Amino acid sequence: MSKVKHNILTEEEIRPASLMQHQNKQYMADLDRILRHKKDFVYIPCPACGSKSSVRMFKKYGVFYVSCSACQTVYVNPRPTLKMLRLYYSSSENYRYWNKHIFSASENSRRNKIFVPRVKLLAKACKRYNIDAGALMEVGAGFGTFCEEVKKRRLFERVIAIEPTPSLAESCRHKGLEVIEKQFEQVKFKKNTIDVVASFEVIEHLFCPRDFLVKCNSLLKPKGLIIVTCPNFKGFDIATLQSFSNSIDIEHLNYFNPDSFSCLFSKCGFETLEVLTPGKLDAELVRKKVIDGEFSLSGQPFLKQVLVDDWERLGSLFQKFLADNLLSSHMWAVARKQ
Ligand SMILES: [Zn+2]
Repeated sequence: MSKVKHNILTEEEIRPASLMQHQNKQYMADLDRILRHKKDFVYIPCPACGSKSSVRMFKKYGVFYVSCSACQTVYVNPRPTLKMLRLYYSSSENYRYWNKHIFSASENSRRNKIFVPRVKLLAKACKRYNIDAGALMEVGAGFGTFCEEVKKRRLFERVIAIEPTPSLAESCRHKGLEVIEKQFEQVKFKKNTIDVVASFEVIEHLFCPRDFLVKCNSLLKPKGLIIVTCPNFKGFDIATLQSFSNSIDIEHLNYFNPDSFSCLFSKCGFETLEVLTPGKLDAELVRKKVIDGEFSLSGQPFLKQVLVDDWERLGSLFQKFLADNLLSSHMWAVARKQ
């Protein structure tokens, strides 16, 4: 058996279809709530490079997605304000549902196939860049599984979970974690004291990614590391499916790509050390849309061959090719405070 097959992750394992059907109702209720404020949404320049020049790409769920003419970051513009987003997340039905049903039902798969590999990548990066084992802060700790695994392996003396959503913060406390239940921008913490800031699938939700990174920078010790994951708009499933991609939703306001992500880091006082796309689901996500009749590959015989006709033989190899060549939609970056 090939090495790739041992590590296969399927969508069903992390987002069981039976539970996701109900989740959609909660999401639509949240969406409805935030769209009531649409007339007060605000325009912003590109969240990565600051350019004001952009082209409109598509409309979905009532909002516009534009692409920066300079760096091709795709972003929601106009977008909900910081205040609207705070209210959205603190009263989200969707997150309550994820916490109660989906995270709990899928925690084992998530732990083994997402969080343990993340912790291993973290440990390797810390070794490679000579990071002290002092303090790690995770911003957006969610269900707390990553922090729990970091603690279990005693990689750091102190592990701090920042989680503003009440139900999720409660799950973190239940795991015995040190939790700060606040929006990150409201967290008061001593500067230059953290060795590693980790943040998984958070930056795409933020009104102002730059403010977030500048704050991370101020908390880190000199030469401290930041590890961030987010969607890559130039990755296979998002670039192929565009507005049909489930990753395109009202919560995801910013879609960087490997180059624009590095550009953003350098503007916030970081040196980018690594950008990887270790995604595992791109090919399956596109295949599923095709099989479910939601997306057509007519006129794309090559993709049909890989994703449908010869899937058993080519699927995992194709996914590995994407992941190895910065072509997956799941992006991971490691940067160092300058
Ligand atoms: Zn830009």
